[in-house]
Amino acid sequence: VVPVLDVRDLSVRFRMRGGRDIAAVTDARFSVAPGECLALVGESGCGKSVLASALLGLLPANAATTGSAVLGGDTDLLTAGEDTLARTVRGRRIGLVPQSPAAHLTPVRTVRAQLEESLRELTGARGGELPNAAAAAAARASFPEGHLDRYPHELSGGLAQRAATALALIGDAPLLLADEPTTGLDRDLVERTVDELRRHTDEGRALLIITHDLAAAERIADRVAVMYAGRIVEIAEAETFFGAPGPRHPYAKGLLNALPEREFIPIPGMPPELGALPDGCAFADRCAYADARCTGERPAFTAGLACHHAPTGRAASPSKESADA
Ligand code: SF4
Ligand code: MG
Repeated sequence: VVPVLDVRDLSVRFRMRGGRDIAAVTDARFSVAPGECLALVGESGCGKSVLASALLGLLPANAATTGSAVLGGDTDLLTAGEDTLARTVRGRRIGLVPQSPAAHLTPVRTVRAQLEESLRELTGARGGELPNAAAAAAARASFPEGHLDRYPHELSGGLAQRAATALALIGDAPLLLADEPTTGLDRDLVERTVDELRRHTDEGRALLIITHDLAAAERIADRVAVMYAGRIVEIAEAETFFGAPGPRHPYAKGLLNALPEREFIPIPGMPPELGALPDGCAFADRCAYADARCTGERPAFTAGLACHHAPTGRAASPSKESADA
């Protein structure tokens, strides 16, 4: 099966004034299969939104990318060029569910007007077909037809999210990219939003969800990729990651343990500056398992993990580990 998206060694550097580089994303490697949901998780500033922007060709001018991100086996998003991305990719091959739907919607136009415009552009629907097509597009995202003539500011957060999702679905793109789709929503709405998004993978559409919300990731994802300091440090099946035996990477373990529903123990310290990454493992100064090798040599990402002491890293903290086992 051709992956819907195949990302190989994707790196994004920002050139800053004074010649300093910021390594926002380094050597990211993952793929998303048809019908699959991959959650890319990590704290804010870890590079996950930059990665999303790279896939959409929406990086600022001082960014440089290397590697590849091949869509549907034929289009490298990193080299395709703005014209191709605008004409054939955004909306048509990648549907974007944005981080803040209210900001993504045009404030001075009703939801109906925005859906109709997008339908004209992406499906060629015309004139008399538009009202029915708009109603159908709204229904796909469970946006109530009775609210179609409202303006974005007249919508609740949940309805704005659905309106934005309806727009994202119009082009029938094989890949949905949802960047922090649950930001600002309360827990009930988070669950409804992710359940809705998941439903859109039923016909083979792939979903890449970018989130710092681990509960949302657990609810929706087939696989989870954990980012730290610009690198993917672990990729795992969601079932084994959130269930047993749990994460393998010490940072990923720390993220889960920090959840209020779990141990509620925060990871000590702060992530390193992306402009001043250490030579060794970027997590070393926060990691209970770190040794001289960790600080001296960056762990390669192999078999879904970037850690020198895995899988045996789990055993290095005797009290906690025996309790978990
Ligand atoms: Fe911790 Fe070393 Fe693994 Fe980095 S490589 S996460 S410092 S054990
Ligand atoms: Mg972000």
